[in-house]
Amino acid sequence: MAEKSFSISVLVPCYNEEGCLRELFDRLGTIQQQLSTCHWRIILVNDGSIDSTHELGVQLLHSNRHWCSGVAIDFSRNFGKESAILAGLDHCNEDACIIMDADLQDPPELIPLLIESWQNGADIASATRISRQKDGYLKNLTARSFYKFFRATSKLNVTQDSSDFRLLDRKVIVAIRSCRESIRFSKGFFAWAGFKQDHVYYKRPERHAGISKWGSWKLWNYALDGIFNYSTSPLRIWTYIGAVITIIAFVLALKTIIATLTNGIDVPGYASTFAAVTFLGGVQLMGIGILGEYLGRTYIESKRRPPYIVKSITRV
Ligand code: UDP
Ligand code: MG
Repeated sequence: MAEKSFSISVLVPCYNEEGCLRELFDRLGTIQQQLSTCHWRIILVNDGSIDSTHELGVQLLHSNRHWCSGVAIDFSRNFGKESAILAGLDHCNEDACIIMDADLQDPPELIPLLIESWQNGADIASATRISRQKDGYLKNLTARSFYKFFRATSKLNVTQDSSDFRLLDRKVIVAIRSCRESIRFSKGFFAWAGFKQDHVYYKRPERHAGISKWGSWKLWNYALDGIFNYSTSPLRIWTYIGAVITIIAFVLALKTIIATLTNGIDVPGYASTFAAVTFLGGVQLMGIGILGEYLGRTYIESKRRPPYIVKSITRV
């Protein structure tokens, strides 16, 4: 690859990652040697860790000053990975930014390929998994169903196996940080922003140390955020469900009236009445639930609170 002089920031959201940071810096340092004409800046965002992630991060930024400058942003509490990404983008002044996890599941060795793709014209270069075999059948199935549903409702072409491990060109960074909502879903932003996108394929390794912070319940809520943030289809569908039920109820009522007129009054019917009432009750509650999801999100956004609060910023 022909090297040109440019600046790159590596943005790492960190939540209890003290076991991974040292190895991350070592491996980033090796990559830097291959791309030494470029200016490197590491942006560490400590998302309210309860271990020594922040202190270790600052220490590592100091001891790696010979090849990178850096900034360590310390949140006042845990605001979530999405807010940490936004904070990092807010502090990014470089030509491009690479977002990567601290746990080395996003291998730094892919960075030269992402940069190459960017230099060949891509505005967003995404690291995309070759397979999800390790995830197991159920996780695969739910992930596939979610992305199918998300694409259908949002009309955005979100790639299923792309993580947040991406290189963003400066213009994409500016576009994404102009979106200030508090309930955030980055994969949606990347697709929504448009621009020229490219993929670099890789096999996702296991975590270097520590444990994943994404349990099933958190993932489920994240999926809901994605769907409700990018589409109003779940709201609109109730108009059609209501219309179908009205037509069915009308046909059944007509049938009952004709049967009563021709055969006289037929008393039995408790079971069907019970079934109809409980069914309709359930349908209505689901409709109200969906309405509540949107209303709750509108309420949260209407307060216009900042997506994160910074306790301190250390520039190295
Ligand atoms: N993370 C964060 N805030 C959180 C949860 C996670 O900044 O509330 C960071 C975490 O430190 C890591 C990245 O987000 O760098 C991905 O988290 P994790 O590895 O737990 O997710 P998984 O890879 O299991 O999806
Ligand atoms: Mg991980």
